[in-house]
Amino acid sequence: MSEPAEDSIFEKALKRLDTARKYATIDEETIQRMQHPIQMLHVSIPVRMDNGTLKIFEGYRVRHDATRGPTKGGIRFHPQVNLDEVKALSLWMTCKCAVLDIPYGGAKGGVIVNPKELSPMELERLSRGFIDKVADFIGPDTDIPAPDVYTNERIMGWMMDEYSTITRRHSPGVITGKPIALGGSLGRSAATGRGAYYCIKELEAKRNWDPHQIRVAVQGFGNAGQSVAQLLHRDGYQIVAVSDSKGGIHRKEGFDIPSLMKTKNESRVLKAVYCEGSVCEAIAADKITNEELLELDVDLLIPAALENAITTENADRIQANVIVEVANGPVTLEADEVLDAKKKLIIPDILANAGGVTVSYFEWVQNRCGDYWSEEKVNTRLEQAMRQQFEVVYQLMEQHQISMRTAAYASALNRIGAAVAATGTARYFSGQE
Ligand code: NAD
Repeated sequence: MSEPAEDSIFEKALKRLDTARKYATIDEETIQRMQHPIQMLHVSIPVRMDNGTLKIFEGYRVRHDATRGPTKGGIRFHPQVNLDEVKALSLWMTCKCAVLDIPYGGAKGGVIVNPKELSPMELERLSRGFIDKVADFIGPDTDIPAPDVYTNERIMGWMMDEYSTITRRHSPGVITGKPIALGGSLGRSAATGRGAYYCIKELEAKRNWDPHQIRVAVQGFGNAGQSVAQLLHRDGYQIVAVSDSKGGIHRKEGFDIPSLMKTKNESRVLKAVYCEGSVCEAIAADKITNEELLELDVDLLIPAALENAITTENADRIQANVIVEVANGPVTLEADEVLDAKKKLIIPDILANAGGVTVSYFEWVQNRCGDYWSEEKVNTRLEQAMRQQFEVVYQLMEQHQISMRTAAYASALNRIGAAVAATGTARYFSGQE
């Protein structure tokens, strides 16, 4: 399970903590603790394929830190999943929960698989098989998974059902992002995009933006990318480019996002359509690559696909002045420096995409008390949480004249530091406190 150190995303994620600790109240020991996830599980999952053969899949579950509460984080199904990536994602979850002041630590899981190559039955057997292997590791009071890239509500439903079968207890609180019929929360599926939207609205107020003048490009037109694009479009923002794994489309006048969502979700292909009244018609749009999308002359760039979209290779050519990280880790550590030097504002992932875990927390609260909220209540509480924590981070940024990313990590470290101090640190035991 050893990982190549020089390219390690986990090591790079730790460097961001190092930069931020100067602006936070946290002791050296706590930083040391954060360099080591508390538990890591590597599993093999035998799955009977439809053709009768047996295939073994590999998966991971990493719990990074549990000082502030049970650990929380998604499960990713992707061919490139590896332990180093899962560790980095679990560290980001620890920080994200702390930035939003949610009483959780961080975790993450993943299975090395291309789910698009599996039949629905094979996917179900794999999902249930993964839970079978991690059932002693997870639980409503210890570690609570959720969806991530290429996992969805239905998969969460299978996983909750499997866990309940294994433990002989109905356990909706073991996993979030479930279908509504199995204890999911209203508002969860759009929550990540909605959280990013509230961050953009805060910035809009600070910078006196007229939404109609703001051109936006969205890389990754999946769950999170579609939700944020839809909300921005409704407010008049011009969404001039979107893309998925097969490539992108660009139209200077902007797209009608509800129509694009309809065609993308029905045909699984991004095709330009324009709706006037109720009549949708195909309109001309330029085909662009994902690389070209990132470098477009736009005001707001929203990477909402995977990690490492912006690297030193392309950072210099990014024209957008504001980047909203809906994906986890879309800007590399080195690219950050290039963008910072060019005075770009980056709303960092641990704040910008924290709407998902915030509503996951609301779902868990609803499951635990058996009282289910209206969508309006969910959205109102999400808006309050996002706006409040955006402000905390923004003020730290202004106070110390640092990047918004460093400020977000400093805010997280302040909360983690306070929790660790409350449990007793070296200073306490040596009588200095
Ligand atoms: P998703 O699977 O619904 O969508 C991902 C989209 O990205 C798909 O449209 C896919 O075609 C596209 N894509 C994949 N590779 C691409 C590439 N190289 N270039 C352009 N597009 C590409 O996943 P999602 O839930 O929307 O998650 C997207 C990102 O947001 C991930 O980084 C995830 O970790 C992060 N995130 C999601 C949530 C959530 O609640 N869904 C929460 C926090 C963070």
